[in-house]
Amino acid sequence: MARYIGSDCRLCRREGMKLFLKGDRCYSDKCALVHRKGGLTPPGQHGLSRKKATGYAIQLREKQKTKRAYGLLEKQFRMYYEKAEKMRGVTGENMLILIERRLDNVVYRLGLGASRKQARQMVNHSLITVNGRVVNIPSYLIKVGDVVAVKESKKNNTVFAEVKEEKAVSLPKWLEFDNASLTGKVLALPAREDIDLSISEHLIVELYSR
Ligand code: SF4
Repeated sequence: MARYIGSDCRLCRREGMKLFLKGDRCYSDKCALVHRKGGLTPPGQHGLSRKKATGYAIQLREKQKTKRAYGLLEKQFRMYYEKAEKMRGVTGENMLILIERRLDNVVYRLGLGASRKQARQMVNHSLITVNGRVVNIPSYLIKVGDVVAVKESKKNNTVFAEVKEEKAVSLPKWLEFDNASLTGKVLALPAREDIDLSISEHLIVELYSR
């Protein structure tokens, strides 16, 4: 499957905000937006040009920002929009909630992966189980009551050592997690207010419904 192989920090610079794509580094002084001179300047030769953004450009940036924060490609992202459009309720909110329910995102939210990218790798490498069965599909949508855990034979993997030592992670209220057994449970489906990214989803809906 196609994937982005460029610099993650460049994406943050493009969007002018931290997208937290590199795990612990994002919380340190090594973050490119913090230590780099002109870190908030968009990358590229024309990064400093001050053209007034059009309505379309603003909508496009909001979509790109969201897509990049979750590490999705255009086709996948659009698929969530189309699915959300057919659901009852507010399309933008439904779209974000669907994306938030992805297994790779849940593994990240539980603190098992330092970034969504690492969490996705864990799922791809069959380290994660849902209700006792290995699920290696990052886009798998979790449901209420699902138990997401590290596969029994992988629990002593060094990558989880810090998690077992109860590394502080701000767990969203729709999830619960037991560090000792590396097991989490989905208590409820996420609501819009549980999604801490600063996203104006109505702009994405406006863009797609042009
Ligand atoms: Fe973005 Fe993290 Fe790089 Fe900072 S360190 S620019 S938050 S990916």
